[in-house]
Amino acid sequence: LRRGLEKTRKGFVTQLLENLGDDPLTPAVLDDLESTLLRADVGVKATDQVLDALRRRLNEEVVDPAEGLRFLKEQLRGLLEAPIHAGDTAVLAPQRDRLNVWLLVGVNGVGKTTTLGKLANLAVRSGYSCLIAAADTFRAAAVQQVSVWGERSGVAVVANPSANADPAAVVYDAIGAARSKGTELVLVDTAGRLQTKHNLMEELGKVRRTITKLAPEAVVESLLVLDASQGQNGLRQAMAFASAAGLTGVVLTKLDGSARGGVALAVASEAGLPIRFIGAGEGIRDLRPFNSFEFVEALLA
Ligand code: GDP
Repeated sequence: LRRGLEKTRKGFVTQLLENLGDDPLTPAVLDDLESTLLRADVGVKATDQVLDALRRRLNEEVVDPAEGLRFLKEQLRGLLEAPIHAGDTAVLAPQRDRLNVWLLVGVNGVGKTTTLGKLANLAVRSGYSCLIAAADTFRAAAVQQVSVWGERSGVAVVANPSANADPAAVVYDAIGAARSKGTELVLVDTAGRLQTKHNLMEELGKVRRTITKLAPEAVVESLLVLDASQGQNGLRQAMAFASAAGLTGVVLTKLDGSARGGVALAVASEAGLPIRFIGAGEGIRDLRPFNSFEFVEALLA
């Protein structure tokens, strides 16, 4: 039943506009569009922004459905691209011949470790030297899990075998190893358990500061991994992690399921974070750079 419902919902925006035939857009259609976007997890702020822009246009001129759709897509792309600052590249890649440290953060179960494995593989395929720092020292199986991913791409894993080791100490070792080998990319796995007495945000803050202190020359990215199917929870997570981990971007996972990823717009417009990669499957190659054009087409198609 659920799949059936998802299917009916699929393409609702386009459907809505196509049903109008040649009739111009009216305020009532915009109200329908508004609820559709909200249901698609686009979030209140982003929805308001794009619809206000469309309403302003409607006040000035007659807008036909095809033009309405084109305008809507352009507005949505604008919101997704806004957090990418002028001069930054649209596709995130490590800088060659430099130390890049990419921290992966996120709550358990969102696909953080899988994303790290995929990124390691992508890095190797793109000819970067890469190292994994197993700094999720809290979860017993985490080190083993990242080691399996590392082996699959021939990427070495730096870990500390003692139970409950200090994550910052693992990062210290990993940066030391990277420096001595001239490694270009260090991928750091971090803990994601929220409901514990050990304070996750404090720990992430410490890891983040350790990187800056140890390797001031490094290009640091702090990527939040979000499960697209968790809808508006993703926005709450982005807000919670933003200050502690100094987030610079987001990886949206599980877009191969029924989720359409509307939360990306909420995250971009409210947390001001660019979406950098999308995960669409459990396989090692199921990760691609985020493309706002493709994304908006898929969201509304
Ligand atoms: P972590 O706890 O955040 O490290 O999450 P894991 O990396 O262990 O992933 C949790 C589950 O989500 C695993 O079963 C993964 O195979 C699955 N997973 C991760 N990314 C994706 C994705 O893009 N698509 C799908 N379908 N499953 C994913």
